[in-house]
Amino acid sequence: MPIATVNPANGETLRTFDALDDQETERRLAAAHRAFRSHRTTDFAERARLLNRAADLLDEDQQDIARTMTTEMGKPVKAARAEAAKCAKAMRWYAANAERLLADEHPDDADVKDSGASRARVHYRPLGVVLAVMPWNFPLWQVMRFAAPALMAGNTGLLKHASNVPQTALYIEDLFTRAGFPAGCFQTLLIGSGAVEAILRDPRVAAATLTGSEPAGRAVASVAGDEVKKTVLELGGSDPYLVLPSADVQKAAETAVTARVQNNGQSCIAAKRFIVHTDVYEEFAERFTTGMRALTVGDPLEESTDVGPLSSEQGRTDLEELVEDALGKGATALCGGGRPEGLDRGWFYEPTVLTGIGPGMRIHREETFGPVATLYRVADLDEAVELANDTPFGLSSNVWTRDQGEMSRCARDLEAGGVFFNGMTASHPALPFGGVKRSGYGRELAGHGIREFCNATTVWYG
Ligand code: NDP
Repeated sequence: MPIATVNPANGETLRTFDALDDQETERRLAAAHRAFRSHRTTDFAERARLLNRAADLLDEDQQDIARTMTTEMGKPVKAARAEAAKCAKAMRWYAANAERLLADEHPDDADVKDSGASRARVHYRPLGVVLAVMPWNFPLWQVMRFAAPALMAGNTGLLKHASNVPQTALYIEDLFTRAGFPAGCFQTLLIGSGAVEAILRDPRVAAATLTGSEPAGRAVASVAGDEVKKTVLELGGSDPYLVLPSADVQKAAETAVTARVQNNGQSCIAAKRFIVHTDVYEEFAERFTTGMRALTVGDPLEESTDVGPLSSEQGRTDLEELVEDALGKGATALCGGGRPEGLDRGWFYEPTVLTGIGPGMRIHREETFGPVATLYRVADLDEAVELANDTPFGLSSNVWTRDQGEMSRCARDLEAGGVFFNGMTASHPALPFGGVKRSGYGRELAGHGIREFCNATTVWYG
C-alpha cells in the first residue's frame, strides 16, 4: 500500500511519501530507546505539564487538523473537530490522573507478613519503547488514547500509522515535539506494514499495541508472542443493539442512526446488528429506516454532511460484496443498497438497512465497515441474547430497556467488553475500553489502559 494522501471524496492523490529507509528507522529506534532512559525518571508533574501543553496546542490547531483528517480519510469535518477536542480532553484527563492511577499499592501488612515481609509495595514502572500500529478510522483518537497514558507512565512511543493518513501521522509527532517532549519520546515511522516485524523483534522495543483488522492483529501478535512481548489488541466489532418492549422506541431509533453511521459507518464500536423485539419491531423499523433515509450524504468538508465517503475504494468494494451476497441470498433492503446518485467521483455508499438476514449470509458473521445496518426480529429476550452473542466478535453492546431484570441479565450474559443501556457505545477516558473473542484483548483508557504497559513491580522489605 503506498504511503499517500488520497482524497476519498474524489479519488485524487494529493501527496505521496517515501517510506523511511533502514538507516532512518534505526536512528529513530535508537532515539526512542535513549529517550526512554531519561523519560522514565521524570516526575508526573513534568510529564503532565508537557501533555497539557500538547492538549492546548491541539485545541489551537483543531480546524486545520480536522480538515487534514477529513481530506485523508473522509470523515465529516464536524466529526473531525469533535475528535480533536476529545483527544485534548483525554490528554488533560491523563495529565491530571496518571499519578493517582499509578500510585504505589500497599498490600496490607498483616496479609504480607506470611511471606516474611515487614511490608511490601507494588510500584508501576514503565515498560519501555512501545510500538503502536494504528488505523485510519479515528486517525487522531486511536493514537492519542495510546500516547497520552503511555507518555504519562514514562514509556516512549513509535507510531506506525495506516498508510492512508501520513499527514495526520506526521502532525502527531510534531505536536508532541512542539509541546516540549524531549527528542525521541514520540516518533512517527512512515513505513509499510511489511517493516513492522523487524521493528517489533528489535530488543529495544518492549511491547506493541494494535488497533485494526483481525489479520493485522494476528500478524503482530504472532511476532510479539514469538518474542515474548506484551500486546494489546483492539480489533473489529459487530456490536448488537437490542431494543426491548419497554424501550423508548423513538429515542432508540434516533440513536440507532447515529450509532450506525458515525464516522461514515467505519467504527469498531458502531452498532451494526439491530435486534428488535417483535412487540416494537414495526415501529422501530419504520423510525430507523426513515432516519437513515434522511441523512445527507456528500462532501465531508461541508458542514451539513452527515455521511461522507468510505476511506478507500477497497473498503467500498468489501462493503458492496457483503450487501450483494445478502441480497442475492434473499435479504431485503428497506433503504439504500447501492451507490448514491450524483457522487460518482468518491467512494460513497448509501445508508442502508437490510432485513431477512440468515445465517448463510456473510453479513451475518462479518463486520460491516460502512453505513449498512442489519435488522433482526426476535420473539423474546432469550432469543435476543443468543443472537447478540452469535458472532465471532465481542467489543461492545447496546440495550434499550427500562426493565431492571433485563438489564441485570444483559450485563451478565452479553459477551462483550461493554454493555451500554439506553444509549450508544462511546469511549471515554475514565472508562476501560476493549473486547473479548475476536475483538481482541487488553484494555485501553482508564486505569486499566495505563497499566497495560507497566511493570507491576513487587517490592518486598524483610
Ligand atoms: P488493517 O488492519 O489492515 O490496518 C490497520 C493498521 O495495521 C494499519 O496501520 C496497517 O498498515 C497495519 N497492518 C496491516 N496489516 C499488517 C501486518 N500484517 N503487520 C503489521 N501491520 C499491519 O485495516 P484496513 O484498513 O485494511 O481495514 C480492513 C478492515 O479492518 C476494516 O474493514 C474493518 O473491518 C477492520 N478495521 C477495524 C478497525 C478498528 O477500529 N477496530 C480500524 C480499521 C479497520 P497499512 O495501512 O500500511 O496496511
